[in-house]
Amino acid sequence: MIADEPAKATSDAVFKDTLWSTTALLQDFVSSATRGDGAVVDLAAPPVVAQELQLSRRVRDGLDAGDFTDFLRAYLDRSIRLHHPGSLAHQVAVPHLPAALADLVHGAINNPMAIYEMGPAATTLELAVVNILLEAVGWRPQPLDAPGLASCGGGVLTHGGSLANLTALLAARAAAAPEAWDEGTPHDLVILAPAGGHYSVARAVSILGLGRRAIRHLPVDDLEVLRPDGVAAALDAIAAEGLRCMAVVANACSTSTGLYDPIGEIGGICRARGVWLHVDAAHGASALLAPSERHLLDGIEQADSVTWDAHKMLRTSGLCTAVLFRDVRTLDSAFAQEAAYLLYPHEQGGPDLLPRALECTKTGLGLKWFLALVWGEPGAAGRYVAQRYQAARRFHDLIVATPGFTSPFRPQANIVCFRYGDNDDLQVAIRDALLAEGSYHLSSTTVTGTRYLRMVVTPPATEEAHVRALLSRIRSVADRLVSGAPSAQTGTS
Ligand SMILES: *Cc1c(COP(=O)(O)O)cnc(C)c1O
Repeated sequence: MIADEPAKATSDAVFKDTLWSTTALLQDFVSSATRGDGAVVDLAAPPVVAQELQLSRRVRDGLDAGDFTDFLRAYLDRSIRLHHPGSLAHQVAVPHLPAALADLVHGAINNPMAIYEMGPAATTLELAVVNILLEAVGWRPQPLDAPGLASCGGGVLTHGGSLANLTALLAARAAAAPEAWDEGTPHDLVILAPAGGHYSVARAVSILGLGRRAIRHLPVDDLEVLRPDGVAAALDAIAAEGLRCMAVVANACSTSTGLYDPIGEIGGICRARGVWLHVDAAHGASALLAPSERHLLDGIEQADSVTWDAHKMLRTSGLCTAVLFRDVRTLDSAFAQEAAYLLYPHEQGGPDLLPRALECTKTGLGLKWFLALVWGEPGAAGRYVAQRYQAARRFHDLIVATPGFTSPFRPQANIVCFRYGDNDDLQVAIRDALLAEGSYHLSSTTVTGTRYLRMVVTPPATEEAHVRALLSRIRSVADRLVSGAPSAQTGTS
């Protein structure tokens, strides 16, 4: 229709121009944060932020492409800067270019690929990515033309590790009590897990109807790492009570400390006794891609299921996770209600992954995963993991060599726990003071009852010089806090 052509030309130009100006602002945000310009974080209260974003006016008058750049500038000003070398608080990926590209592509095309006809490229990438990850664990990939074939591994991409853990435990329940889908969860099932497991595991157990009391905490050492001898003893105790172990859950690595449970030994015990082992490797599975770090996960192939987040150590934005199974049939029976689906009498063109997922509408996570795995020189993803893990060990060594600082362990992953002085409350006060200054963002945790500062070494820009500056900043903040001087903000970077 000729009459529509000028309008179309205009909207094409607006699309392109707006993307262009957005790109320029984002690039500036990323590069200035990477250089360490300005604050990592500047916490203003919601009324202040709403004012800066001119929300009332924009709700009233609307917002269009012409106004978007101004709005985005204000939005970025009040966003935390994960690329900043002082951004060391949480296990969140510092996204790189392919992550941004994948999100942009999805935002433009929205292929919700739960069924093949809604995204053949996205579905194929999901199958291909799952195969790459299965091989990294040491499991058999699935032929693309028979994704439910027995004797292969299997997996599904999910929106986050919490859903992945729920999916894995659902499959474990289906293996232990196939009748549970129709009849409800039987009362003799027990989960064995360390007390320091991620809270999503306890939630999943409650969601599955076992009740939180079905979790028994496994013995750990003084760094909260699982003791394999405790697993065998706990299994014996459960059997003596006439109960059944639905799953053993181990961490690789633990959220709080970044220490890996000895999954090889635990896996051997579980295989010998026919007990499901779920390895929650949301943070630490990416070390499978780093030859120098892979030994931390030795024996993982003995597990039954593994959770693996890309949005922690593979530089994708959230959420981007895989849950993998040694035997694809255990995944396909997780959602038992849908088992009849699996021969796909009505699927069009290729396999529908809907029966394997909790989500119905799902983003094309395969693209994000795929770009994270293959972008750049071969092996680049694993090299990043190794570099940050090794940097964390160097930073640890620097910290314990600095007077006044101690650390309970040398890191295995990129998480460093340390403290200044000998007072639990002081650690929290130091963290809060640094956060208020905006120069460094740390977190804090307890290890066997003692409070530590916690640093997650994720930004590629963080170097030894930043850690030295951080330590001297901590010392002066702490001295000020201890001497009771007014805690005025210094604005120092
Ligand atoms: C981060 C983490 C999770 C939760 O993953 P989300 O993707 O944030 O839902 C689960 N388990 C462990 C061990 C983690 O480190």
